[in-house]
Amino acid sequence: MERTLILLKPDAVQRALCGRVLTRFEEKGLKIVGMKLMHISDELAARHYAQHKERPFYAGLVRFMTSSPVVALALQGNGAIAMCRKMMGATFGADAEPGTIRGDFGSSRSFNLVHGSDSPEAAARELALFFPEGLVEWDYQSTWIYDASEEL
Ligand code: UDP
Ligand code: MG
Repeated sequence: MERTLILLKPDAVQRALCGRVLTRFEEKGLKIVGMKLMHISDELAARHYAQHKERPFYAGLVRFMTSSPVVALALQGNGAIAMCRKMMGATFGADAEPGTIRGDFGSSRSFNLVHGSDSPEAAARELALFFPEGLVEWDYQSTWIYDASEEL
């Protein structure tokens, strides 16, 4: 089992697309083990995007990511990291394949709706940054489907 950090970025929140994007991950079979709406501080943005510090788009990226709340998600599943990256599509909306989240909802470069960890090392680092309190352990129970929750 792998865990990955997904951020529904400020544009996804402002465009009221959080539910639709989250639904895709849920339908694929990824389990939510952490979820919160939060403002990213300048300091957290700097730590999260430390690898991009020297890039020309860095200042704008930090301004964008701190401009409005994001939804931080910790998702769990077999091969979750690569699977989520595939579902997100290429970085820029205009280049991303139809059928991917960025390809279906985005046409901007910076405003590309989602972040996803790109390696197990990045996932561990980013999950610790966004969920220092830890994640939620739970299992799916079929009793909820059959209206037998009183037997829990
Ligand atoms: N970004 C940007 N301009 C660029 C490259 C990246 O605004 O020329 C932003 C974009 O929001 C992207 C983020 O910086 O998601 C991180 O870039 P990265 O190359 O890591 O892309 P990702 O891993 O998100 O696909
Ligand atoms: Mg990246």
